[in-house]
Amino acid sequence: MAVDPDLLIAQTDTIRSALKALDRTGSGIVLLLDGEDRFVRTVTDGDLRRLILAGSELDDSLRALPEWDSLTVDSAVSEHEAIALMDRRRVDHLPVLDAGRRVVALMDRRAFGSRIELSTPHMGLAERQYVDEAFETNWIAPLGPNVDAFEREIAEYVGSPHAAALSSGTAALHLGLRLLDVVAGDKVFCSSFTFIASASPIVYQGAEPVFLDADRISWNMCPLALERAFETARREGWMPKAVVVVNLYGQSADYDRLIEICDKYGVPILEDAAESLGARYKSTPSGRFGRLAAFSFNGNKIITTSGGGMLVSDDGDAIARARYLSTQARQPAPHYEHTEIGYNYRMSNILAGVGRGQLEVLDDRVASRRAVFDRYRERLSTLPGLDWMPEPDWSFSTRWLSTLTLDPMRQKLPLDTIRGRLAEDLIETRPLWKPMHLQPVFAGTRYITAGTSSVSDDLFANGLCLPSGSNLTDGDLDRICDAIVRIAG
Ligand SMILES: *Cc1c(COP(=O)(O)O)cnc(C)c1O
Repeated sequence: MAVDPDLLIAQTDTIRSALKALDRTGSGIVLLLDGEDRFVRTVTDGDLRRLILAGSELDDSLRALPEWDSLTVDSAVSEHEAIALMDRRRVDHLPVLDAGRRVVALMDRRAFGSRIELSTPHMGLAERQYVDEAFETNWIAPLGPNVDAFEREIAEYVGSPHAAALSSGTAALHLGLRLLDVVAGDKVFCSSFTFIASASPIVYQGAEPVFLDADRISWNMCPLALERAFETARREGWMPKAVVVVNLYGQSADYDRLIEICDKYGVPILEDAAESLGARYKSTPSGRFGRLAAFSFNGNKIITTSGGGMLVSDDGDAIARARYLSTQARQPAPHYEHTEIGYNYRMSNILAGVGRGQLEVLDDRVASRRAVFDRYRERLSTLPGLDWMPEPDWSFSTRWLSTLTLDPMRQKLPLDTIRGRLAEDLIETRPLWKPMHLQPVFAGTRYITAGTSSVSDDLFANGLCLPSGSNLTDGDLDRICDAIVRIAG
C-alpha cells in the first residue's frame, strides 16, 4: 500500500502542476507536503477550482490553499476501521501518517471494501446458450434435451455408464439409500467428518447412522475405524445396510482399503462425491467407487446449476428406478397409476442447461482451485503453525476448498481470533465441518474411532477453510495473504 510519488506535491509547486498530477494519477486526490515533507492537507480538483474562481492564477503556488484539517489515520488502523471511518466522514481516501506526520500510505476505498466470500458461483460462456435454447424450444418444464444431455455428459466425464439428474445432492443420496434398500430400523455407517446432508437421508429412511472417524492422511473415512466398526457389529450380531463414504473438500477417500473391508462383509458403499467432482483416486475419477455415487451442483460447489445433483452407477436398472422414484413413482398409465411412494426430485431442463455449460469448464475450475491452494501454501509458507490439508500420493484433489489446521503449539493466536480479524477485513473464512457425532441433533448416536483419540474432533477444533473460489483474482489472493500475514505472522 505504498504511496505513488505522483500523489505527493509540495506547497511551493504550482496550481498547474497539481492539476497535472490529478490528471496523471486519476486518483481524485493529491497530498500536499510542507518543506520538511510533512503532510499538510489533501487537495482535490474542487479545491483547485475554488482557488482559481477566487482569483488565483495557474502558475501561483499552492500556498494560497486555505488551511484544512484533513482526516488522517496512523498505520495501526485496520481495514475495517478505515472503511467505517470513510463511511462516517464521507471520504474515499485516508492518508496514513507516521509519528512525524510523513505519509506512509494512502488508503483508497476502491482498493478494498468488496467482501471476499468462501466459494461463489463462477459461470462460463456456454451456460446461457443452453438455457436460451431451452426457452426458445419451450423446454422449461422438468425433463427435456438438456437433462438427457447433461446426464450423458456427466456419465462420460466420470466414466460411469448411467446417471440420473436430480434436484440436489441430498436427493441423490436419499435415492441412493432407497435403492440400497435402507429401511426403518436399519443401521448405516457414515463418515462423521462431513456436511449434514451425508447423514440426513439416513434419518429420512428411518434408519440409524453410526458415525466413523476420519484418518489424518486424507481427512476421510479411516479404514481402521471401518474395520473396527464391522468387527463391533459382528460381535453384537448386526450388520449395517450400507456405508456412506464421503470425499471431503475435493479429495477422495482411500477406496482400495475401504472397498476391501466392505467387500469382506458384503456391504455396499454409497459414495458421497458431492464435493469431489473432478477429483481422482489412483487415476480413477471420483464417483466410480460406490455401488452408487452422488454429486451436488449446489451454488458453492466446484460447478453449479444453482441447485442440483446427480446419481451415477454401473447399474442401469438402479438408475432407471432412480428416475422413476424421482418423478413421483408414476406407472406408465394415462391416469398416473401408483404402486409405491416416490419423490419430486428431478432436475429441470433449464438448470440442466446451466450444468452443461459448467461441465465444459470443470477442468479449468479444478486447475484454478488447485492454483489458489498452491498460492496460499507458497505465500504463507513462512507463517508458524499452519498445516495444509494433505494430499496423499494416490489422490488428485480438486482442492474444492483450501483448508488447513493450526498447530496451537506453534501458532499462538487462537483460530477464532484469526477468523474474527479476517472478517473485519471483509474476508470470509469458516471452521472445518463440525463432525456429525458432535452435532446436537445426533446426540447419543454411536461414533467409532480407530484408536482412543478422535481425528475429526481435532480437525474441527483447529481447522480453517479459506476463500477458494475459482473466480478469485490475483488481487483478492494478495489481499487475503497480506491480511493473514499481518494477523498471524
Ligand atoms: C453439498 C453437499 C451435499 C448435499 O448437496 P446439495 O446439492 O446441497 O443437496 C452432500 N454431501 C456433502 C459432503 C456436501 O458437501
